[in-house]
Amino acid sequence: MIDSSNSIEGGCTDCNDPHSCGSYHVYVISLGDGTSYDFYVGQTGKTVSERLADNWAKYNSRGGGPRLIRNHFSGLRMDLVPVDSVACSSRSEAERKELALAEGLRRQGYKVRGPRGGS
Ligand SMILES: [Zn+2]
Repeated sequence: MIDSSNSIEGGCTDCNDPHSCGSYHVYVISLGDGTSYDFYVGQTGKTVSERLADNWAKYNSRGGGPRLIRNHFSGLRMDLVPVDSVACSSRSEAERKELALAEGLRRQGYKVRGPRGGS
């Protein structure tokens, strides 16, 4: 369980936890041992730390991504998020950049859980 009061290095500087700046934020989570995935890529209109805390607090009964993150969370990797993707003005823009980031990491040989092109 991560502490949502932790400041996130490289994250949105306009957010003031728990209050989102209103932008959509792309984020990367590093996944640890026990899963074949290296990273989880997502986007949220909340602050990244609030979204992260939701994986434990709110999405308990949901499968897939939240469970993967709960079981294998090994840190945020905001350093992997391009500066122009940290805060997006619309959800569709964030989804495009989320996909581009996931595909970019896959091209580097990483196993990425997240959006997939063409599906
Ligand atoms: Zn923000």
